[in-house]
Amino acid sequence: LLVTEFLHRAREFFPGKEIVQYHDGEPVHRYTYRDYYDRVLRLAGALRELGVRPGDRVATLAWNHYRHLELYLAVPLAGAVLHTVNLRLEPAEIDYILGHAGDRVLVADSSLLPSVEQARAARPDMLVVGTDGAGPGVLDYEDLVASGAPLLDPPAVAEDDLAALCYTSGTTGFPKGVGYSHRALYLHTFAACLADGHAISERDTVLHVVPMFHANAWGIPFAALMSGATQVLPGAHPVPAGIARAIEAERVTYTGMVPTVAVDLLRVAAATGADLGSLRALVLGGSSPSEELVRSIEEQLGVPVFQGWGMTEISPMGTFSRPLPSVEHDPAQRRRLIRKQGRLLPGLRWRLVDDEGREQPHDGVARGELLIRGPWVATSYFRDEHPESFTDGWLRTGDIATIDEHGYLEVVDRAKDLIKSGGEWISSVALEQALTGHPAVADAAVVAVPHERWQERPLALVVLDSGQEAEPDDVLEWLRGQVPRWWVPERIVVVDSLPRTSVGKLDKKALRDKVAAGLSDVRGRP
Ligand code: ATP
Ligand code: MG
Repeated sequence: LLVTEFLHRAREFFPGKEIVQYHDGEPVHRYTYRDYYDRVLRLAGALRELGVRPGDRVATLAWNHYRHLELYLAVPLAGAVLHTVNLRLEPAEIDYILGHAGDRVLVADSSLLPSVEQARAARPDMLVVGTDGAGPGVLDYEDLVASGAPLLDPPAVAEDDLAALCYTSGTTGFPKGVGYSHRALYLHTFAACLADGHAISERDTVLHVVPMFHANAWGIPFAALMSGATQVLPGAHPVPAGIARAIEAERVTYTGMVPTVAVDLLRVAAATGADLGSLRALVLGGSSPSEELVRSIEEQLGVPVFQGWGMTEISPMGTFSRPLPSVEHDPAQRRRLIRKQGRLLPGLRWRLVDDEGREQPHDGVARGELLIRGPWVATSYFRDEHPESFTDGWLRTGDIATIDEHGYLEVVDRAKDLIKSGGEWISSVALEQALTGHPAVADAAVVAVPHERWQERPLALVVLDSGQEAEPDDVLEWLRGQVPRWWVPERIVVVDSLPRTSVGKLDKKALRDKVAAGLSDVRGRP
């Protein structure tokens, strides 16, 4: 089970299907899978000529463009390990990750080279290739493709060998490295393609909005390749208006994104009247979407929302939720499912355990930490760090969840973000969702603050919709009708913006620090 088989399959069965580079405002480029195949083989040959050996790590620091997709295929074909690096990290974080992974080659977009100056100085042996041209100490990607002899005799690779390496988002601490074997990625692709997963087919045109530095870009590139779907790549710095134009122009049928990006896309679609009607579904994942967002997408765009829950450690998909036929036409059931992240993909197993490791029932009420195991679930981190996350082959996800009698998961909160108030748990995520239901509230974050009597109490920070005014006390009063009484926060503070991590998740770590320091400056990365 080698992930490179998908490449050979695409060449044989879908040679005329296209990979489209749709970079808003620039000419559109189209490549057939046939041409792509030849380029990938030459790139793999060039990597070997550069000295890349089986097991070596090849890092990428690149936007979603067709060369990045070529690397997804050429690096594993050369027997090496594709290490996708989050391009929004700070230079010091990139330095840490490249050093930890011990990358032999780095392929980077030239616009991103300034972020790796520190890392390059620390590792003079690391070869650097520029996807869009040569520079001082930087080889030109196209020269490599042009000069490489097609790799017709790829090195022998075993299915347990690593094909890729990715670091977690670093939401709760330092990013952790997760290695993916060929077998893991192969089986993940199969599961993701099933009818109650993405179910991507030859009739689909998929747009890669999820950055390809995320765990295997949620598996969508490999799923599209295996299925012979047309793939559209939006290039550097895609903005919501550009994403909307790409969907409209290329008649995109399938795409996925984190909720924050979907909020912007919806706003742009409403403002410009963009026709996104070609979409058959929009996948949301990475963090919990508000019910309001899911409803707005379904009503405003007329497009069903599928939700996925996953982790870098799960290659990344664990559950997937698409309206089952029995639910699709039943509004009451549909509403109930909006908050849920779906059912476990076939091949995986799960458990719900309390603090003492006792099994919890799957009744939709009992909550516990979710444990997962299966062929595409990590059993260790790269360099065997954090062994405490793995027990007897099970991954401890750090997510607190319920599972209902139909097997639907609902992520309640991260264990690190749950608020413990007088022996009762309060879900910060559920409180945030309730708050964003207030007509004047655009965004909300809830963190614990220490309390003498109750140990911890929730504190809410809210961003108001532009042009809206609301008194914190009125929002608190309104909230009393929405959530259990003891959930109502001690205080609501109105702020201009909330800190988010480089991948758009609420940065509760930063928020807690700021709250502890007296809330002087609650602002995120631009
Ligand atoms: P780190 O592990 O470094 O702290 P991270 O957990 O954010 O960072 P990822 O692997 O990118 O890194 O994210 C996985 C986490 O994202 C899950 O454990 C879960 O908390 C959250 N998540 C993913 N999908 C969903 C979803 N659909 N709904 C709610 N939470 C989600
Ligand atoms: Mg994590």
